Parts: sequence; C-alpha cells; structure tokens
Amino acid sequence: MENVAIFDSPGKGRGLKATKEFWAGDVIFSELSLAAVVFDSLAERICHSCFRRQDKLQRCGQCKFGHYCDRTCQRAGWAEHKQECGAIKAYGKVPNESIRLVARIMWRLDKEGSVVSDMQLTTLDELEDHISDMQEDELKDFKVDIHNFLDYWPRNSKQHTIDVISHIFGVVNCNGFTVSDQRGLQAVGVGLFPNLCLVNHDCWPNCTVILNHGKIELRSLSKISEGEELTVAYVDFLNLTEERQRLLKTQYFFDCTCEHCKNHVKDDLKLAGREVDGVKPSEEQVKEATDYCLQMLEKMEKARLDADYHELVKMCSECVEKTEPILADTHIYLLRVWSTLSEVQAYLQFFNDAAEYARKMVDGYTKLYHPNNAALGMAAMRAGVNHWQAGLIEVGHGMICKAYAILMVTHGPIHPITKDLEAMRMQTEMELRMFKQNEYVYHSMRDAALKNKPMSMMHEPKCVEDEIKNLFHRRK
Ligand SMILES: [Zn+2]
Ligand SMILES: [Zn+2]
Ligand SMILES: [Zn+2]
Repeated sequence: MENVAIFDSPGKGRGLKATKEFWAGDVIFSELSLAAVVFDSLAERICHSCFRRQDKLQRCGQCKFGHYCDRTCQRAGWAEHKQECGAIKAYGKVPNESIRLVARIMWRLDKEGSVVSDMQLTTLDELEDHISDMQEDELKDFKVDIHNFLDYWPRNSKQHTIDVISHIFGVVNCNGFTVSDQRGLQAVGVGLFPNLCLVNHDCWPNCTVILNHGKIELRSLSKISEGEELTVAYVDFLNLTEERQRLLKTQYFFDCTCEHCKNHVKDDLKLAGREVDGVKPSEEQVKEATDYCLQMLEKMEKARLDADYHELVKMCSECVEKTEPILADTHIYLLRVWSTLSEVQAYLQFFNDAAEYARKMVDGYTKLYHPNNAALGMAAMRAGVNHWQAGLIEVGHGMICKAYAILMVTHGPIHPITKDLEAMRMQTEMELRMFKQNEYVYHSMRDAALKNKPMSMMHEPKCVEDEIKNLFHRRK
C-alpha cells in the first residue's frame, strides 16, 4: 500500500491520496474482499466460492445452500462457509444476503482480529455506519435484518453487543461493493473491501474500480499527481446533477460539492434539443418530447420485464420516430431509448438496426462521459459487435478498437472482457483486410462465421440493466 495514504479530505472526512504520480491504466492498489456473498436470487446459479456462472453446480451436502463448480471450489470456500453451513442448518432456513454477509464478516473478524492483512489500511470500527442518517423506512428494514441476524447467529459463536452488530450492518449498507461474474457483465453478489471504503466520491472521478480475477483493482483514469485525492463515482454521471445529488444524499448521506455539481457541467447537453441547420426546437417542444420519452421509458420497462420484445421494439421505434427530430443525441432519455432499442434488436437479430442505434448511443456517450469511462467502453464494444454482425466491418473494427483502448485502462490487459476484445480486434482486423481485397469472399466468410456465433455476447435484454453500472451495491 505504498502508493496511497489516508488523509483528511476537506469537507469529506477521511480519504485516500496518491503518494506518487500515476498514469491512465495504472493499478493503484488491489484488494481481496473481507467477505462476499452471492445474491439470494442467484444462489443456485453462481459458484459461492469463485463467483462464476455455471450451468451445473454441486450443492453442499450439509446445508443444501452452498453451490460450487466442483470439489476444488468447495474446498477453497470451506473456511468461509464452515460456520455459515452449520448456522443455516440450525436456523432451518437461509437468511438474506445482507445478513449472510454481515455474519461472514463477523466470523472472519472473530477468527483473525480486526485487521486481516497487513495491506488493510482501516478497521471496520473506524468506518462510518450512517445509522443516524437513515430515514424511518430504511431504519425499519434495518432493524428487521438485525432481529433476524440475532436468531441466525449461533450460540456457540462469539457473542457481540447490538451496537457492534448494527455498526457492521451500517458499514455494509453504505460500502457494499457489487461483485460481478467472471466476465464483468452481470452483478452476482456483494462484498466488503475495507480499503476501497476509504475512496471518496467525485462525479468526475480520477479512478475506477473493477473486479479482476477475484480482486478489486483501483485503476487510474488519467494522470494523477502526487498528493491528489483518489476518487471514484458512486453514481452514474449520466444522471442530471440534481438527480446525482439526490441519490448521493439518500444512499450515501452526503452533499456532493464536486466541480461538476457546482457548475452543473453538461446538464444542458443532457436535456438539449437537436439543432438542425442552425435552427433549434422551442423550449416547449423539447419539454414535450422529454416528457413523452420519460413516459414511454416507463412503459418499455414493463414490456421488458414481461419479455414482450416485439412490443418493446414497437414502442421504442415509435418513441424514436417522434423524439429524434427534436432531441439532441446527448439527451439522456433518448439515449436510454436507443440503448434499449439496440439491445432488443440485437437479441432479435435485426443487426442493422441494432448497429445504427448502438452507434448513435456511442456518439452521445462520447460527448458526455470522461473519455476513459468504462460504460462508454462497454457501449463501444456492443456497437462494434453489432456492426460486425451487420457486416459493417469498417465501422465495427473502429468501434472495437475504441472499446479496446478504453478497457485497457479501465479493466486492464488480463481481464477476461479485454481478452475477448483483443480476440475480436484481431478477427475484425483480419476481416477488414479481406473486405478491402475482395468483398464477395468477405461476405461469404462472414455468413459462415455468423452461423458459428463466435461473438455471441448478447444475453437476454431482461438482465442487461443489471450490468455493472452500479458499482456499489445498495440493499433493496
Ligand atoms: Zn467455482
Ligand atoms: Zn453447507
Ligand atoms: Zn458531484
């Protein structure tokens, strides 16, 4: 941990600062979780030890709850599961993910003490729990969890006061980090990483955090000078300032005073009208189109949950037709409609349409996001794949190169998704060369390749929203 130091960040409390200079893509630190659990909803589909998604998992014979890839994973996860296994058996049911996580943390601390590795910069005692900031509703759920925890916690484990238990629940509540599957495409669980808890928020941060082969990595997004505070974004920049502030206040209990909030940076773009030949639509027109988009997005969400994809395409297309002439390509609601439309079209294998809307989305994102934003990189990857699928190899290759450059910074060269991208980059480069020599040969080869689906990375649109947009997990 010689790269960082704890310091008093003005107005924010404790924070981390760089003790040397960093460049885009540098790993400032990496950290294993203190404890992590699989979401309740995915307990039978994700390995409880390595967090990989597998079709066939082996069940723990004792509690029937733990699921593992194989004996190796089961053995590797036993130290963390041993007490949980006995507790679940004795309790007669499985408590929710928050309770399971807190219990795992407490068993670990009871066994190893409050500092479990010499890399750990802080104890949990020193982290804030924000219990006094909670709203009544939240506090009610919180108390139910603690009540259930007390029933679940075995008598033969070390006993703690309610204050100690509440504190850990509070810490997990505002610091839980989303654990993703091995490719980083789906949120599958939640874990606690003590050093990461020290990294404060900025709406335009200088770092990002990514789970890479079981560890989180804090990666630099651009040049960072010695002494500069290290920050990550707890909420997506694609929200308006007012909305980001609301989310940060209700979920993380602070008022953001970052430069982007103070100056409402890019808020105008996020609700802008489209200028055509120097003519802008009127304010009323923009407002009307904005409201309409918002209304349609709600209906779309319902169709998406019902898996009614043809209806979803119909609604999106109608919305695009009405609002595209009025709204700018940076309008955040139009961007959401494009995103949904391209996802669903790709899923339904209408690749040309999928490619068109994915490209428009990347254009809008590029104007709004930091050039090394991970969501921009993922969008470029999607657009690249869509173009490739549509046979638009030149744009496709360009998009994949753009995505690769971003993910080299945000995910690093050994992350599985970067490796996938590298393979795609080489494949599309080869195809582009072929295309330039002989289009006919190119198209027949591509048709054959499409049948083998080597680039099938499109999952059902239903779960795509769980994508890793929300790095930090909030209890629902
Ligand atoms: Zn496993
Ligand atoms: Zn078990
Ligand atoms: Zn801010």
